[in-house]
Amino acid sequence: MISFDIQCANGHLFEGYFKDYDAFDKQLNAGLVECPLCNSREIKRLFTGCSIQTNNSFSDKKQPAFFEMIRMVESYIKQHFENVGNEFPEVARAIYYGIEEERNIYGTASHEDMEELLDEGIPILPVPKIDDVEQ
Ligand SMILES: [Zn+2]
Repeated sequence: MISFDIQCANGHLFEGYFKDYDAFDKQLNAGLVECPLCNSREIKRLFTGCSIQTNNSFSDKKQPAFFEMIRMVESYIKQHFENVGNEFPEVARAIYYGIEEERNIYGTASHEDMEELLDEGIPILPVPKIDDVEQ
């Protein structure tokens, strides 16, 4: 489908949808295109632009909602992981070395802390601080 901006002799603006440009041209020449407001058939196409309509319009496809994904991860973590807050580096280390019971935890750690933990081979995953994320 193709759409054209059309104006009638009375100055009404409307959009016409046609199979293609030829279909528009034929209907126009045959006097089949009329203004939906006043039924005037004295119409002209405005060359302000045209748009192509396809069945798989991009606007129909929901873009991956990045921030929604982050929030889902956050809510998953909050439900299934224990919040150890600032103790994160110590607790992560304690769990890794078998001092504390094995469990999933989350908390805050400085960049340095995280690097140390990773250097020691402790599996941690940095996640964005959600509260700072703006949409
Ligand atoms: Zn009109």
